[in-house]
Amino acid sequence: MTRAQAIADGLARVRDRIAAAERAAGRAPGSVVLVAVSKKMTADDVRAAMAAGQRVFGESYGQELRDKRAAMADDAAPPEWHFIGPLQGNKVKYVAGQVALVHAVDSIALLDAIAARGVAQDCLVQVNVAGEVGKHGIAPAELPALLDRFATTSQLRCRGLMLIPPLVDRAEDSRPHFAALRAVRDQEAARARPNVDLGELSMGMSGDVEVAIAEGATLVRVGTAIFGERPSPQK
Ligand SMILES: *Cc1c(COP(=O)(O)O)cnc(C)c1O
Repeated sequence: MTRAQAIADGLARVRDRIAAAERAAGRAPGSVVLVAVSKKMTADDVRAAMAAGQRVFGESYGQELRDKRAAMADDAAPPEWHFIGPLQGNKVKYVAGQVALVHAVDSIALLDAIAARGVAQDCLVQVNVAGEVGKHGIAPAELPALLDRFATTSQLRCRGLMLIPPLVDRAEDSRPHFAALRAVRDQEAARARPNVDLGELSMGMSGDVEVAIAEGATLVRVGTAIFGERPSPQK
C-alpha cells in the first residue's frame, strides 16, 4: 500500500468513527469538524489527505507551520490551517493572521501578543480543567478575566474553548474532563461579552473522539489515527 493510500484509509476510518459518534449522540451529521493534525508530517502527506477530501489541518510548531505553508504556497487550493500547539510570544509572528483558528490561547500576555500583530484572528482559549500542575491551559478561575480581555482586542474573536485532558489508559477516563470543559463553557456563555462567542469546543484526539463528541466536541484534533505514529525526536 502506498503512503497516500494509507492516509486515505486512516482518514476514512476516522470519518466513520466521527459519523458513528454523531449518530450515537443524536447530533447532526457534519456537526463535528475534523482537524487533521499534520505536525511532523510532510507537505505531501497533507496533499494526500487533501486528495482524499480533508480540508482542515492542525500544526503545533510555529516554524513548521511557516515552512509547510511556504512549501504549499503554489498549490491550487491551500488547506485551512489551525494552530493547535502552545504558542510562545516569539513564535506569534509565524501564526497570527496566518491561520483560521488558534486553539491554545492560555494567558492575557499571549492574547496581547497576538493583538499586537494588528491582524484579525479567531482564537480558542485552552483551559486546564483538571488543574494539572505544569500543564498548559488557563485555570478555570482565571478564565473570566481572559474572556473579558477580548473586549479590548477588537480584531480578535474568541470562538470557544479547548482542552487537552490528562493522559489516561482508557478513553472513558477522559469523559469527566470533557464534561467539565462543557460545563465551564455553559457557565461563561451565560454572560455576554464583546468579541466572545463560545460555540466551539475543541476536544478529542485519536484515542477518544467518540467520548469527546458525546460530550459536545465541535472540533476534534486527530493525528496518529490518520497519519500513523509521528517520528519521535528521542529516537
Ligand atoms: C499532537 C496533538 C494532537 C493529535 O494527537 P493524536 O493522538 O496523534 O491524535 C491533538 N491535539 C494537540 C494539541 C496535539 O498537540
